[in-house]
Amino acid sequence: MQTEFDDVATLDLSIADLGGRSPSGQSPTASTRLLLDLLRLSRSGDLATTTDPKADALDGVIMRPVLRSLLAALRLRDNNTIHHVRRTAMFATGLARFLGWDGVALRKLEIAALLHDIGKIGVPDHVLFKPGSLNPAEQELFALQHHVGMDVLQACRVHQDVLDIITQSNPNYDNGLHNTTELHLGARILVIADAYDSLSHKQVYRSAKTHEEIVSILGGSAGTRFDGNLVNLMNRWIQAEGPPSSREMQEPHKLQGAGFFQLAEEMQASSLCHIFSYLYGLESTYDGFYLVDSDLKFRIWNTGMERLLGRDASKMLDQNWTSRQIAFADNQGRPLSDDSRPMNEVIHGGQARTAQLRVQHVDGHWLDVEIMTVPMIDHDGSLQGVAEIFRDLSQDRRRRREDKDLHQKATRDSLTGVCNRGELERTLESLLADFNQDSDPEPMSLIFLDVDHFKSINDTHLHATGDQVLVGLGKLLQSEMYSAETIGRYGGEEFIVLCPSTDLKQAIAKAERLRLAICDATLCDVKHLKITVSFGVTQVEPGDTLCDVFGRADKALFASKDKGRNRTTALSKREFLAEKSESPQVEPVATYDFDGSFLACVTSDMIVLKFGSVVREQNARLMQTAPGHVVIRVGSTLFLPFWGTKPEQQPVELEITFGPPPKDVLLPQKQGASERTYFQVKIKPRGWPPDVATFQTRARSAFRLLKSYFVAD
Ligand code: GH3
Ligand code: MG
Ligand code: MG
Repeated sequence: MQTEFDDVATLDLSIADLGGRSPSGQSPTASTRLLLDLLRLSRSGDLATTTDPKADALDGVIMRPVLRSLLAALRLRDNNTIHHVRRTAMFATGLARFLGWDGVALRKLEIAALLHDIGKIGVPDHVLFKPGSLNPAEQELFALQHHVGMDVLQACRVHQDVLDIITQSNPNYDNGLHNTTELHLGARILVIADAYDSLSHKQVYRSAKTHEEIVSILGGSAGTRFDGNLVNLMNRWIQAEGPPSSREMQEPHKLQGAGFFQLAEEMQASSLCHIFSYLYGLESTYDGFYLVDSDLKFRIWNTGMERLLGRDASKMLDQNWTSRQIAFADNQGRPLSDDSRPMNEVIHGGQARTAQLRVQHVDGHWLDVEIMTVPMIDHDGSLQGVAEIFRDLSQDRRRRREDKDLHQKATRDSLTGVCNRGELERTLESLLADFNQDSDPEPMSLIFLDVDHFKSINDTHLHATGDQVLVGLGKLLQSEMYSAETIGRYGGEEFIVLCPSTDLKQAIAKAERLRLAICDATLCDVKHLKITVSFGVTQVEPGDTLCDVFGRADKALFASKDKGRNRTTALSKREFLAEKSESPQVEPVATYDFDGSFLACVTSDMIVLKFGSVVREQNARLMQTAPGHVVIRVGSTLFLPFWGTKPEQQPVELEITFGPPPKDVLLPQKQGASERTYFQVKIKPRGWPPDVATFQTRARSAFRLLKSYFVAD
């Protein structure tokens, strides 16, 4: 392809041609030293350039000394992880052998398993060693470890197949593939080995699982994250050879001979740790970087550069840097002459520099970038290479972060960090739209859960303890989910789990697993306080609307409460319709009255505003207002209100009384506890409701809706 730069002479001198000395003769700064170390690492990983005759290339997958150094650094940083990766490698290769793998393919899988968590070396302490689950900002920081790991592995010239296996086994990997079976088989094996090992060991928020539990979890998420056929094969392998824990874990990995962890490797583990944390800084602040060596050969072209300019590392590495490869222009769009290219200026001037320029993406469009060009000057003053670090100004990170923060606020529940009700409804709406459009949709289910006797937890242990229970429950739900589920808080102490690729039977199993995990868990500071939760489960059926699905799950949940709580009830559409046509099976409530109450932390100004929002957003009518007393009518506003088929149109009147909590509702508040308001709600039907049960369902949903305005945030 011709570009407008084709007439520009190529800059093909090497730094060595310039005399190998930086004109200014400076010594390296701390960060240049780290870049130099990275460059050296890339040389030691390169079989073609290595000078060590004893260096073993491990089937051309990675140089043995490099692997040793990396694992030594990981051990130095986090001892638990080194054990985890060793067990994972053993598991993955065991399973692969069972599938008939051997030779280089097996070696690549083994190395991928050993190195899949290598980026953790750079994760800052406050995230890596945080006891408890990570908040969204920390999760984002943690996710960078994958890129950092890739930067280093690429620098170490690890075989591309190993990089592919690691990339595709990453939970955040999304390449538009819809089916797990489209992934590299090695990645699918690694995902299972990784999950098996994590689940069989205790984590902060859950206890270790038994083999049977793990098989049921992996089987329950088959198709989304885990390959169902492989899970079955794994089960057969374990049936044939016994669970991995009972097998000899002592079979030492070949690398663990005497001196494996002796740090007399070419690169000391601690200096490797510094490289990782430096790269962590780069990855979290900039969008991409590359390194050329003193022959102007590309030694590193990181995944950020691949994304930014659309050029694969495989096409760039070991190529010579020329002024034709990447087209630069100034702010006005005028092509840069060779002399004014940052690289050229830095080579000749020996000084780092920063410039705001435009750079061309491989598809032809131009990006505004800030480029920092850093000469890598060694102790003897010689110029060893140059690093160019890019920041994408057209998509400024700060703005992206602000957008992200806003998105977080709009979609997350502020107390528990799980999705809020709006986000839950949006997600389910879009899942339902896909489901109803698909001629042969995958099964999908919904789990609705509600804490039992939660009010008495608040009453006996203060509201703050109740809050802790909700936060702990949100964390537990998140830590117990292993595939594409969406977890959200529906209202006060009610949560929903949306489970794609899950049929009713699997959803019941999932709910039961959660229920038992909650019974075991300690969710707040009051150690002896055990809570139980009731569950309602339903599977989505063709033609279902949001209301249908929530309605059935709600009804199933109500049945669990009715039968004594701490249990799971499932309701299929067929049962639901059959129940409707017969007399309602759930114990009929005798009256057209509904009473409910809740506590919320709102000031009196806020109460007025919130009632305003209810009226505006729900098309409600304000019937009466007096201090501490409001009557609102929601649903159909016709003069002769009718009870249509759509629950949200069915007219009801809410009489709400609010004020300070009565003494028997809340113990005297501790210092620092915030102001609470106690809401009592009486609901009556307007018009002619067909039957008591229909009214009660409608009243419950109206109550929940009202409550969501006051307790959600
Ligand atoms: P059941 O077993 O029937 O579900 O009884 P319950 O007490 O759990 O149910 P109810 O709906 O009567 O009470 C729910 C309570 O949850 C009332 C309300 O004050 C409390 N609640 C709602 N939101 C919050 C919150 O954010 N924090 C705390 N601490 N309590 C809340
Ligand atoms: Mg409730
Ligand atoms: Mg409850």
